[in-house]
Amino acid sequence: MGLILESVSIPPDDLPRSHSGHVPEWVWRDAAGNPLPDTTWRAPTHPPYPPPRRRRRRGRGLAIFLVLLLGMGAVWWSQSADPRADLVALTDPTTYSDLADRAGETLDDVLARRNPLDPVAVPLPDAGPRTAPPIGVDEEVERLAPAVTVSDPDPAHAFAAVQDDGVTPVGWSPCRPVLYVVNEDGAPSGFADTVQAEMAALGAATGLVFTYAGTTTEAPSEQRAAYLPEQYGERWAPVLIAVTDEVGVPYLGGDTAGVTYTYRARGVRDGLWFLTSGAVYLDGADFTSIGGPGSEPGWIAVLRHELGHLGGLDHLDDPSQLMNPVTSDVSTFQAGDLTGLAMLGQGACAPDV
Ligand SMILES: [Zn+2]
Repeated sequence: MGLILESVSIPPDDLPRSHSGHVPEWVWRDAAGNPLPDTTWRAPTHPPYPPPRRRRRRGRGLAIFLVLLLGMGAVWWSQSADPRADLVALTDPTTYSDLADRAGETLDDVLARRNPLDPVAVPLPDAGPRTAPPIGVDEEVERLAPAVTVSDPDPAHAFAAVQDDGVTPVGWSPCRPVLYVVNEDGAPSGFADTVQAEMAALGAATGLVFTYAGTTTEAPSEQRAAYLPEQYGERWAPVLIAVTDEVGVPYLGGDTAGVTYTYRARGVRDGLWFLTSGAVYLDGADFTSIGGPGSEPGWIAVLRHELGHLGGLDHLDDPSQLMNPVTSDVSTFQAGDLTGLAMLGQGACAPDV
């Protein structure tokens, strides 16, 4: 099949490969010349990776492709005015701060629990304005929808983060709705409808309830906070889904077609992590160069892939699955993706997050 490698963004350790698994020579050259650490994850206080500017145009647009890149940047914030505690830059996706002082834990408590391999931007006492909502907002005592079970589990999936047990994936609470808003500025006609349809599909795959909270004029930002009470009230900020470009979101520079941010918080009683907010940004400048199956615009497959990240999936180096990070002729969730999404929806409630 004539593959086109285009509109694919490649962070240093996320080298694009053709379906044969071959890594193009230019990729290695780019990677070799890149001084950044061996990580796909950007941290908010670091400049974005220098985007690969080279494009390959080979063959024609028969294949679909997905394009993707995304990062799950778990971005956390600190509750201190001390800039050293703000968005501590890390080299892995677990850039976060415990929200421990929300429940009265002391800094020593946080430090004592800190895993040196799992860096934490430690919130300092006597913090300024709160950066997280009161605990348990919208949380019910039981899950809102039945858990999804997969009769024939497929191991072809990966999770972006796991609990302290090293196994259980970190997902959203099944016991409260996951609110999302859509910014239609610069988006294709019918964008909000498409997003709602795809979020419904994500809900069906996870057993989670994703609730459309309407459109917003909130501009996409890489520095978006997880708590925006003036816009959205005293709850975790709803997931923002928007079309933008590398001007609005520099991470979308070069051939990156989409990026997803998720935010996590840890419950102070049981120590479980939960996804609490997030943002999905698509690069509208890449839409015309992304092929799609039949009449479906290619960006919809990118959106689906990003929503997989939003649900808690990581990349998987397997072109048979939608969560493969590079091009693929797969445009929908496959057996491995669906197994992972089902597992992500089987978590505990989050009454203290
Ligand atoms: Zn991805």
